[in-house]
Amino acid sequence: MILPDATLGVLGGGQLGRMFTIAARSMGYRVWVLEPDPHSPAGAIADRHLQAGYADRAALKELAAGCAAVTTEFENVPAEALEYLESRLPVRPGSAAVAVARDRIAEKTFIRDQGLDTAAFFAIHDADELEPACRSLHMPALLKTARLGYDGKGQVPVEGLADARRGFEALQGAACVLEERVDLAQELSVILVRGADGASTFYPVGENHHRDGILDTTRVPARVPERTARQALDMAGALADALDYVGVLAVEFFLTRDDRLLINEMAPRPHNSGHYTVDASLTSQFEQQVRMLCGLPAGATDLLSPVVMVNLLGDLWRDDRPPPWDALFAHPRAKLHLYGKKHARPGRKMGHYNCLAASGEDAAAEAEAIRRQLGGAPGDTGG
Ligand code: AMP
Repeated sequence: MILPDATLGVLGGGQLGRMFTIAARSMGYRVWVLEPDPHSPAGAIADRHLQAGYADRAALKELAAGCAAVTTEFENVPAEALEYLESRLPVRPGSAAVAVARDRIAEKTFIRDQGLDTAAFFAIHDADELEPACRSLHMPALLKTARLGYDGKGQVPVEGLADARRGFEALQGAACVLEERVDLAQELSVILVRGADGASTFYPVGENHHRDGILDTTRVPARVPERTARQALDMAGALADALDYVGVLAVEFFLTRDDRLLINEMAPRPHNSGHYTVDASLTSQFEQQVRMLCGLPAGATDLLSPVVMVNLLGDLWRDDRPPPWDALFAHPRAKLHLYGKKHARPGRKMGHYNCLAASGEDAAAEAEAIRRQLGGAPGDTGG
């Protein structure tokens, strides 16, 4: 076990790294952050901010020499960086699991190979593969870049072969998946924690609502039948076992109108849809990341209260002026989390708030009331 006072490293200095840093420091660990951006949400509060690129050998060497173990806040760190660190100290999650999650083709193929359901898809490496793929899939479909796509970026809607060809060109011929668009009843996610001993601990299933491809709200518990929730937990657990995963893993699902549960993607780290755990769970997903990194047992995942999390995007800021926080603070069961980002841009995640209440309905109503007061457009939480 790596015990408090040890130094932990994190690759990436955004909000996920920041919340990891807060959890680690409150437990008595020191944290070094490797992040090129000088205005980094995590770097600002870490014991040390190594301001260098993720593949910078000198910085990686320093990180390896100064830390007891290293984790990552995002999957797009260069594979070589993780492999280099892994040859010197514990890295969790390991580079092999991160490599699967980093690439949609590897990810969806891996999921399918485990016998777990995904939306029907074809890997597209060159334009010749579009025609047979379009013939085999039910339209409409989506063309998604295999790499560096997130929050709906790098995605093109496809109605037929002509669209697919245009889309592939627009994505500059990068490797893609062409995937059937499914009729969504709900989007769900499961966050789990898996230790080196192979034991998994699960958070309850969350119900996610997206807007323009970006997560807007998460409501927990999700409004799904017990059978569906059980199936989602089982599928997420099977995936973590197949990856021999160590750390916090988020698995996103589509529930279709004809009642099929499909895995959309996974994130080898804490996830936006688990931000509610900071206020509404006995152990937050970030404390779990510290625990798994340090070889400690998982903390209990009991839900203390129904909760709705609402993301705060830069759209709410006018000319870099924040929304009226006094309206939010007037609600004693709402909890504000801001990431310390200097400039707001449309679509940029600036923070979030959690509303805790006696029921999911009450939490949703409060979340939507606050959103109106902050100047946001109504959401879809049921409030
Ligand atoms: P992704 O980047 O793959 O997570 O996609 C972002 C969002 O786009 C998802 O959360 C869904 O709302 C939507 N989406 C992605 N793929 C599909 C699909 N195959 N069918 C229907 N909606 C999808």
